[in-house]
Amino acid sequence: MTPRFTAAALFLTTAFLAPAQTPLNDTAKLLTEVIRVNTSNPPGNEAKLAALLKSKFEPLGFQIDIITTPDPAKAHFIARLKGDGSKKPILLAAHADVVGVEREKWSVDPFEGVVKDGYVIGRGAIDFKGGLAVFAEAVMMLAKNKVPLSRDVIFLSEADEEGGSYNTAWLAKDHFDKIDCEFSLNEGGWIIKNPDGTVRYVSISTADKSGVSLLVTAKGTSTHASMPRPDSAIFTLAKAMGKIGDYDTQPKLIESTKEFFTTLEKTSKPPLSTYFHDLVAGTDPEKVKIADREISKDPLLHAIMRNTIAPVFLNAGFRGNVIPGSAEATLNFRTIPGTNVEELISEMKAVVNDPRVEVTNAGGRGMPAGTNAAYAEYIKMTSRMKPSSKDSELFRALVQQSNVVFPNVPVTTYLFQAGTDSAAWRSRGIPVYGIYPYPISAEDLTRMHGNDERVSIESLQQGTDLIYKTLVQVAGK
Ligand SMILES: [Zn+2]
Repeated sequence: MTPRFTAAALFLTTAFLAPAQTPLNDTAKLLTEVIRVNTSNPPGNEAKLAALLKSKFEPLGFQIDIITTPDPAKAHFIARLKGDGSKKPILLAAHADVVGVEREKWSVDPFEGVVKDGYVIGRGAIDFKGGLAVFAEAVMMLAKNKVPLSRDVIFLSEADEEGGSYNTAWLAKDHFDKIDCEFSLNEGGWIIKNPDGTVRYVSISTADKSGVSLLVTAKGTSTHASMPRPDSAIFTLAKAMGKIGDYDTQPKLIESTKEFFTTLEKTSKPPLSTYFHDLVAGTDPEKVKIADREISKDPLLHAIMRNTIAPVFLNAGFRGNVIPGSAEATLNFRTIPGTNVEELISEMKAVVNDPRVEVTNAGGRGMPAGTNAAYAEYIKMTSRMKPSSKDSELFRALVQQSNVVFPNVPVTTYLFQAGTDSAAWRSRGIPVYGIYPYPISAEDLTRMHGNDERVSIESLQQGTDLIYKTLVQVAGK
């Protein structure tokens, strides 16, 4: 028997469903499709996503370039909407790959594009398929609405941001003409929500931290385990690591971090507001120390104000009856722009203060780029990078349109705590502004690279509004 619903029954059904069912907007719809293409890296499979994006962009009149890499599964997708050429292009870049999942820890299939309770849930919802969907939708809206353009608008879906060799640095080497621009948008800053759902602040990253790894090597006598000597390499290394573990680097605030902490001062209550004030403007070293200690209880804030030290490898010994002649540890540093590797080595040598221990540059070891050659290239590139200036049409438009979409919410610059693939542009002097374009709560933020990663459907709409309005202001005639 076919079930038949009366109008009243239908009304009741929808009334019951209403609180949980936020209608899907175009961005959320696109995001569910994008999540369904599993681009966990490795292996990436970004070429499959490029094919899906081509089917969306091409009918709207975009000029499409799919840049294949030596790995046929990995590809960069470029869609260009032509302007009249009176200004240089604007580029919106988003990485297509995502990190893998611990599937058993998810409450839903991470690659199904599940919509539940007003959220899109899936791997990459925050990092960065949500952003990819927002950027793509905003750019496609320019074409759908036939907005006359003074400059080309380029959308780039990138391969290998989460690892691998065919990232934007690889793309930029031979194809820079296709991604050259006056300025660019990428992932970076956050639009953070208060617990009551209102937006606390909008942060736009103007610089990223870089990475460098140092090798700490202790030397001793290699001999039979039956006759230990007092110069064990392993004990010596352990002592050195103990000293490094007890040590922390001094805060090193750059302009964007100062502005960010001042915004936090304005949007928090005492005593936190006082700590933020003391950290940025304090003159009493004791108060600055207390401020650092209290603010550093938040690992993110601890990270953006200093060079961080993370032990990532330990290596010593090869047989149960041999005392090894050396023991080594690899430390991964995430550095503030302007940090010099030689200075970092001297700092660590002074902390260890032991002639039996050497501190050297670890080269490509443990770095995402892998090989020594790729590492050398990365260091060369990042050493050329300077924070992007706020003095640009794009930055001003982002601030103005943020004030329209999120009235009375402060906008601040930000130093992104990790690296992104924007180095390909920043190292060439092209400004890059980073934003995860959706209001997000602190709780949801912990799901990034974690389990049940999700983004709210309403936030996707707000982000699309912000980016679309910004594009109309910057690229419209
Ligand atoms: Zn990312």
